[in-house]
Amino acid sequence: MVETKFTAEGKSKASTWQEALDLLVKGNNDFATGSTTHPERGHETLFAQYLKQYPFAGILGCADSRVVPELVFDVGIGDLFTCRIAGTVLSDAVIGSLEFAVEVLGVPLIVVMGHENCGAFRACMNPEHHPNVKGISWQIMPIIEECRSLPGDLLYNSILANARKVSQQLRTVGPILSQKVRSGEIKIIPAYHSLSTGLVTFFDVEL
Ligand SMILES: [Zn+2]
Repeated sequence: MVETKFTAEGKSKASTWQEALDLLVKGNNDFATGSTTHPERGHETLFAQYLKQYPFAGILGCADSRVVPELVFDVGIGDLFTCRIAGTVLSDAVIGSLEFAVEVLGVPLIVVMGHENCGAFRACMNPEHHPNVKGISWQIMPIIEECRSLPGDLLYNSILANARKVSQQLRTVGPILSQKVRSGEIKIIPAYHSLSTGLVTFFDVEL
């Protein structure tokens, strides 16, 4: 067993949603421009937080192997409370996890991050494949149908529409999140992660 040397009480790097968003924007810009610093990823950081965690943002993202929040935002161990599920869809367990992040850990910002070329959406657009992902396709298929009449790229429109819909559902799903959203204490916003540029674009920050 490794001797623990660090027991200091930590502190979240952001106390407001705006501060948290600024950190994500800065880290993502560093990632996209090849200026990453890979901060706080060693065992020292983990040991220092073994009693308690202090994440500054919650991320609901896809299980896709190319979408790794800690990397694309260039943050370290303990910075992000992350839920990853194929297609970035909701479930009771996801909702409960994010409620925990807000209520117990004091996270002021939740980002619902869809991404370019999401395999779950591509599968749902292919009649031969979507039966294999029916556990999530029942949430994705209606969004694709809603987006068919929109101008532009159907895949992009559907992925962004899903992130927006899930964000709105989280804002109203129960008293823990909805009350803090109404008071302005927290923000829940959608985002789109481009795999081809590395950039994450945030939406509906004004809501
Ligand atoms: Zn995906």
